[in-house]
Amino acid sequence: MASQEDAFKALVSHCKEYGFVFPSSEIYGGLAAVYDYGQNGVELKNNIKKYWWDSMTLLHQNIVGIDAAIFMEPTTWKASGHVDAFNDPLIDNRDSKKRYRADVLIEDQLAKYDDKINKECEKAAKKFGDAFDKEQFISTNARVKEYAEKRDALHERFAKALNDNNLDELKQIILDEEIVCPISGTRNWTDVKQFNLMFKTQIGASADNTMDIYLRPETCQGIFTNFLNVQKTGRMKIPFGIAQIGKAFRNEIVARQFIFRMREFEQMEMQFFCKPGTEMEWFKHWKNFRLKWHKALGLGDQKYRYHDHDKLAHYANAATDIEFEMPFGFKEVEGIHSRTNWDLSRHGQFSGKKLEYFDPEENKSYIPYVIETSIGVDRMFLSVLAGSYKEEQLEGGDKRVVLNLPPALAPIKCAVLPLLKKDGLPEKAQAIMNELKFDFRCAYEEKDTIGKRYRRQDAIGTPFCITVDHQTLEDNTVTVRYRDTMAQERISVDAIHSKISEAVSMRNLYKKMMQD
Ligand code: ATP
Repeated sequence: MASQEDAFKALVSHCKEYGFVFPSSEIYGGLAAVYDYGQNGVELKNNIKKYWWDSMTLLHQNIVGIDAAIFMEPTTWKASGHVDAFNDPLIDNRDSKKRYRADVLIEDQLAKYDDKINKECEKAAKKFGDAFDKEQFISTNARVKEYAEKRDALHERFAKALNDNNLDELKQIILDEEIVCPISGTRNWTDVKQFNLMFKTQIGASADNTMDIYLRPETCQGIFTNFLNVQKTGRMKIPFGIAQIGKAFRNEIVARQFIFRMREFEQMEMQFFCKPGTEMEWFKHWKNFRLKWHKALGLGDQKYRYHDHDKLAHYANAATDIEFEMPFGFKEVEGIHSRTNWDLSRHGQFSGKKLEYFDPEENKSYIPYVIETSIGVDRMFLSVLAGSYKEEQLEGGDKRVVLNLPPALAPIKCAVLPLLKKDGLPEKAQAIMNELKFDFRCAYEEKDTIGKRYRRQDAIGTPFCITVDHQTLEDNTVTVRYRDTMAQERISVDAIHSKISEAVSMRNLYKKMMQD
């Protein structure tokens, strides 16, 4: 079996080879942590965005969308706390001259203890076979107990250092845990420093009227500053939500893991405004609903887990992440935060405008509390690809790479393939495609053997291939070939549309989500 690292490399090169993701400005050598989406990538990305947007604005009568500007009056970022506190703790290794996030180095160390525990369990499971009781083993095996104690102690110390903002202690943890630089292998570390992640630029043409502004590091502040506009013009009643999809920018210290951590990325955020005191109920509700949204895609329920936060951001009174099992371990894809009334209060203070809601039932005004669901489009994209990418060994020694993408998200829904490039087959295939193209993105291909054409479509995750042959001209039937099973079936041309329609409909995913 390929190592995790090899599997990830294979996925990254697949993304490039099949037009999903390219390094930005690659002809000039690329730009670290910035990527472009190619012809298939943009379709998949748009489908992910649609899946999210419609799940918010169609399924919920009380959620509306907006599209705020990337540039905002800079006081916004004073009020939000980003100018003073949007920092990451960074540390340099003097020998390799490489820069790391101190918290990430320690988190990796925590993961190492978990790996060690898992390895011991795997060894024991092999040894004891069916009689193996994992829980009992973990609570009694001396070595596992020692690892677990070390991990818990480290975890506690780390959480306290983060909460106290104690940079010296973070460095001391790195030294005490004997964490080495992966490049130089040494422990020659500098002190830990804070680094602000916002990109700054200027607005205005002449020297005396320019103003420093920031590229937004998160999209939600555009929602908060528009709270009253939307509430009043939309006559919204609490509880209600505002959804937005848009670009965000962070000058990330450690740019790694492909599109997992980018400097320019896209977020899908929804801020749900509710009555003070009801926020924990709504927090629970959204935590639940968001996980259902992920699971409905069918990538495998075991690939998701919650991770409740130890360190709460300055604005939050509860927070959890939804993590997905990436090729490099379980990682955050989405955050769900109970942000209290912090943002609206702060914008109220800094702008001098009262950002309050008059509750007709209570007959009083208050600043609503907010539950936020915040997911990165790019991380979602990566999780969908990682969960769909398979290298399969076929009978007869052949291999195929297939993306078992959820059909609703697949960039191309259907490929129409004339078996031969003559005898009127291309014309018939074109005619079929001309009917389908109004509703589905289709591909038409006549070059190469049919087997090679199937492989190319498997590699980009096209759920259906329609092959047109001589029999089609006689009885108006075609062969449908299914991506996942490779099974083939003869159906009437008139049945193609409804077959595709049923399989790629987001409606079925939404129904599933609303059921359980
Ligand atoms: P991390 O701890 O990984 O830096 P975060 O907790 O700072 O992430 P949030 O501020 O909660 O992230 O942002 C919400 C979502 O935005 C994340 O769950 C993630 O999907 C996405 N996101 C954040 N930073 C990046 C980035 N640099 N590149 C791609 N997506 C990102």
